[in-house]
Amino acid sequence: MIVQDPVCGRHLTIDQVFASADHEGWECFFCSAVCAGRFRKQPALFAQAARQTNRKQDA
Ligand SMILES: [Zn+2]
Repeated sequence: MIVQDPVCGRHLTIDQVFASADHEGWECFFCSAVCAGRFRKQPALFAQAARQTNRKQDA
């Protein structure tokens, strides 16, 4: 399974995921504490990207 970090755009395998967060029912994955922190401060800024990228993974 490959996921995309919505903050920096990196593609991550599950063992590269540093942190994850749930935002309005979407699971978001981050490569580092920096990206996770940026997301938590401004989730709305990244939520749309997370929806689009993770929807493709699910399809
Ligand atoms: Zn990142």
